[in-house]
Amino acid sequence: MFRDAATQYQQDERTLQAFTSLLTLVEALASITDQAENTTCSETENVPVPPITLATAGQSFAEITNRALNCTYVAVFALDPPDERQRLLGIDGLSPQEIKQLQSDTDQTPLANYIDAEALAQLHANQIVALDLKARPFVTTRSTHGARFRLVAPLMLHGRLIGLFTMAKIDGKYPDVQSAYSPAEIALTKGIARLAAQVIEKVSLLQEKAEAQASEQKLQESTRRYEDFLSTASHELRTPLTTIKGNVQLAQRRVLALEKQADQNSLSIDKLQRVEHPLKETLLNFDRLERMIRELLDFSRIQAHKFVMQKRSCNLVEIVSRAVDETRQTTDTCGRTIFLALPAEEVVPVIADADRINEVLSNYLSNAHKYSPVERPIMVSLTVEGLLARVTVRDKGPGISPTDQEHIWERFYRAPGIETREQSSANSNLGLGLYICKEIIELHQGCVGIESVPGHGATFWFTLELANGACGQESAQ
Ligand code: ADP
Repeated sequence: MFRDAATQYQQDERTLQAFTSLLTLVEALASITDQAENTTCSETENVPVPPITLATAGQSFAEITNRALNCTYVAVFALDPPDERQRLLGIDGLSPQEIKQLQSDTDQTPLANYIDAEALAQLHANQIVALDLKARPFVTTRSTHGARFRLVAPLMLHGRLIGLFTMAKIDGKYPDVQSAYSPAEIALTKGIARLAAQVIEKVSLLQEKAEAQASEQKLQESTRRYEDFLSTASHELRTPLTTIKGNVQLAQRRVLALEKQADQNSLSIDKLQRVEHPLKETLLNFDRLERMIRELLDFSRIQAHKFVMQKRSCNLVEIVSRAVDETRQTTDTCGRTIFLALPAEEVVPVIADADRINEVLSNYLSNAHKYSPVERPIMVSLTVEGLLARVTVRDKGPGISPTDQEHIWERFYRAPGIETREQSSANSNLGLGLYICKEIIELHQGCVGIESVPGHGATFWFTLELANGACGQESAQ
């Protein structure tokens, strides 16, 4: 009678202890997840707090459980797909030497190579497995660290086995596995396992979030460096070029002045013209070089998603007229005729980056000039079609085959067999001009296109939406 009461008291005591442990565990869990949440908050405040990892969460679980169950050791494993390879997340109760041994036994070992098929099936069915390693040894020989009685609890998440809790007690103290783990301890282990699975999921998600934040920061840093590079490259490349170009223009002006005085100072005009010609060529090549640098920098901006339009309300009539005038005035148009047809409206209002739209039209014009004979005129027109403004550039060059038309807007594409008028300038064509034009127009929600019959020239066009959907007189702007 007295013995029964004593046993009952002992059992109550252990149950109470188990529930107290469970409560302690829940508190500890709350602190783990709080720590994880705070990590995220602190990062936004730029306070460097080490992020909680699966390893730290696993280690906390192993320690808490070992305290609650008083085992020889407790280990927590994640099971990685596809073949449930074990990955040690935390361990408590073993010496560093023994931990190393356990790690080499288990790490990257599929669970099926460790415990038998029956135990495996039980774990998958979310049941706790009690193992007497003498009766049911490991599938392959492993070190047991003197602990014969094992309790293996599954960590299930959304019906999937994601990890394990392994508790070990040394054999000397208990006659069999049943007496090693009381029903209360088994119930407690089940509870712990459920909580652990939740925490592991939460920590995994937080870890993924932290990793995503880290890579986002990395990306921002590399974008910043890229932008720095772009502005430095743009400045460093342009500054010396501008100086050299200025000096060449100065030399050219001086030669022209000398030519005018040729008779007076007995300088032969022939000799002066021999100097003038290379200076002119140098300037033409400077323009090409400038264009290539501009295209390469724009291309880099597009790749880095840093190609930004400075849109303002503007008059497309002015943009088109300016681009045509500029092209007419450039030194290398060799007296080419460029016709311009404007609409009756004085104002064709668009919300646009005027410089960039000018660039598109200049590019179309430069191509028309490059690829068509100089004696054939180029026709530019601006028309208004409903809510759209359309700008076209028509040349009477070789035209473009239907196959090439499909690829003409792609970066680096150069239609095979189409040659520039001046072979010397062929090397300066990067096949980027039309690609950049398309980007610019699409960043204005417009469209680009080409119509061409090979042998009969080509018409390049782009459309832009009218601002307020209306055109008008100058005063209406
Ligand atoms: P590029 O700098 O090489 O001219 P673009 O992107 O401006 O680069 O043009 C791509 C290719 O399209 C050119 O290499 C040329 O083969 C073809 N092309 C462009 N404009 C014309 C045109 N007006 N007539 C014939 N072919 C053209």
